[in-house]
Amino acid sequence: MSGTLKEHCGVVGIYNHPEAANLAYLGLYALQHRGQESAGILSLDGNKMFIEKGMGKVADVINQARLAQLPGSAAIGHVRYSTSGESSLAESQPLMAKYASGTIGITHNGNLINAERIRSLLVEDGSIFQSTTDSEVIVHLIARSRAAGFAQRVIDSLSKIEGAYSLIFLTETQMIGTRDPHGFHPLALGRIGDGYCIVSETCAMDLIGATLIREIDPGEMVIIDETGIKSFRPFPSQKTRFCVFEYIYFARPDSTIHGLNVHMVRKEFGRQLARESAVDADVVISIPDSGTSAALGYAEESGIPYDIGMIRNRYVGRTFIEPKQSIRHFGVKLKLNPVKELLSGKRVIVIDDSIVRATTSKKIVSLIRGVGAREIHLRISSPPTCFSCYYGIDTPTRQELIASSHTKDQICSYVEADSLEYISVEGMRRSVGPMGDKICDACFTGDYPLPVKEEHFVQLRLFDSI
Ligand code: AMP
Repeated sequence: MSGTLKEHCGVVGIYNHPEAANLAYLGLYALQHRGQESAGILSLDGNKMFIEKGMGKVADVINQARLAQLPGSAAIGHVRYSTSGESSLAESQPLMAKYASGTIGITHNGNLINAERIRSLLVEDGSIFQSTTDSEVIVHLIARSRAAGFAQRVIDSLSKIEGAYSLIFLTETQMIGTRDPHGFHPLALGRIGDGYCIVSETCAMDLIGATLIREIDPGEMVIIDETGIKSFRPFPSQKTRFCVFEYIYFARPDSTIHGLNVHMVRKEFGRQLARESAVDADVVISIPDSGTSAALGYAEESGIPYDIGMIRNRYVGRTFIEPKQSIRHFGVKLKLNPVKELLSGKRVIVIDDSIVRATTSKKIVSLIRGVGAREIHLRISSPPTCFSCYYGIDTPTRQELIASSHTKDQICSYVEADSLEYISVEGMRRSVGPMGDKICDACFTGDYPLPVKEEHFVQLRLFDSI
């Protein structure tokens, strides 16, 4: 299936808790959907930092023995899916570096759009980079800053950076969490025991038993040290442009972002879609799991019953022994199988969250047709994806986005559905209520909050196909 689930990164930070690394591990476990390429935890014990990281999912990388190597009462962790840089251990995070005044640990979610330019300047000036990740640029800027004190160095460095960042830093004396002025990606602050945590999504707090204090605001910097929490707004204020694709697809449905529960938002997308593109049918089904919340909303609004029409094999892993040529081409069947007895002879509405290259939809329509569905009406809970993302979401280049060069009718014929409708941009904005004018929807509209010159940015990793 095109779009093997690849998301951007997840970050977690724990401060002042006797089981910091354990909690970071659990936090990452809850954020696993944000990246499965690599995982890592850095801990602080006294003045010493320890780091364990590797390629793969959290539970594969961090075992009991490695956790035991992460002592101390503060820790930061990261799960990675690379949207920039190569994919190897050197690129995995947290990054740890020594500089004139001590040691820094850093974890980053997002994508910096001027990192390449800054990197070239730094390299020309003698800097030696150990990875291709744009986050390392921040480390170099901090190390070279002449500002007094770590927080000032961070502010000085980030003021040179353009792009999306939700960052957590750890030094010997403090943990800092900060979000870029547009607030592209989420970051939340919580209380755990006598300490604090900072996490990408609130679902991580639920797992570790932390209480949400509040979300970190776009452009805010929170400093946590032995005296408590301090908040600063060191960057020029900008209009909030939170990534709407977090609501549509990336974030976990049990997370709350900018005060809105993700599942509820997705249900509202579904309701709105039903209002905009009603069709007579017998059953509403979803492509699990990404389309399920919207399908429930669609069913609720249309009065057509929701049912489970596709079963997902939850155990499909990254590696899979390719059978011999003669029995190959399982394609999407490896992951999803339709329920024949439910769908045969029926008029079916199929809900998915997005169409990117349309390979998934095409295969799914063919599977459902194959079990005898009479009509297949595809409904998509996001508008047509016409533009690439440069702020941390893995979208293929523009040429590969089917909607950038095909009309809705052409896409409908390509996937061989009886009808195809997307939610409108207006409908999507309305569905996120108070966030309607505070989202980045550049992937649908081309309205990029930060100017991007394609030649400055290499979109390195595209979707894989199976
Ligand atoms: P495609 O087959 O290329 O049209 O991909 C669409 C499918 O990929 C949908 O089922 C989405 O749930 C999923 N998807 C959308 N965006 C992404 C992304 N950035 N990374 C991984 N999967 C995605």
